[in-house]
Amino acid sequence: MGLTARPIGHTYPNVTKRFAGLPMAKLSIIIAPDPRLKLKCEPVAAVDDEIAKLMEDLLDTMYLAPGVGLAAPQVGRPIRVIVVDPSGKDDERAPVKLANPVLLWQSDELVTYEEGCLSLPDMYEDVERPAKIRVKYLDETNTERELEAEGLLATSIQHEMDHLEGIIFTDHISKLKRNMIMRKLAKVKKQKAQAAD
Ligand SMILES: [Zn+2]
Repeated sequence: MGLTARPIGHTYPNVTKRFAGLPMAKLSIIIAPDPRLKLKCEPVAAVDDEIAKLMEDLLDTMYLAPGVGLAAPQVGRPIRVIVVDPSGKDDERAPVKLANPVLLWQSDELVTYEEGCLSLPDMYEDVERPAKIRVKYLDETNTERELEAEGLLATSIQHEMDHLEGIIFTDHISKLKRNMIMRKLAKVKKQKAQAAD
């Protein structure tokens, strides 16, 4: 995912500008429909140097896209690693890197965001999810942490955790809308493949 929810006040083009000139590793993001986005991901044994570097690369890729979240399976790594940063363009960066995230609690209260995904470019639909959550996870230093989240942070963590189960945001909407989006994406992929021939 990249979750690319567009709440009021979030405009993304300036994010790229903000980080222009910085050295960044950009990974290639898998676009749906693709069987690699439907895999259930494996936990990491520990957050070692390689996983910590992957977290950095995921963040770089996410900022450049730009998006507010990205999961390892979206770059072809079927492991339980996600990154999110729901900060607005005028805010300080607020990256959160999570390995093996586990949902400990979710609120009964729900909230709706217009979600998007870096694996489903230019597609946006309203998705309803619990407004608040508590998760435990391993951070980039392999330290176990707990985080209570609400707002876009809670939504983006849930969106990214879905990717670890092979679930994308269109799995939360009507079949009619989902099929329409998948047809559009398949068409764009076909056109791109033909253009590359
Ligand atoms: Zn996504």
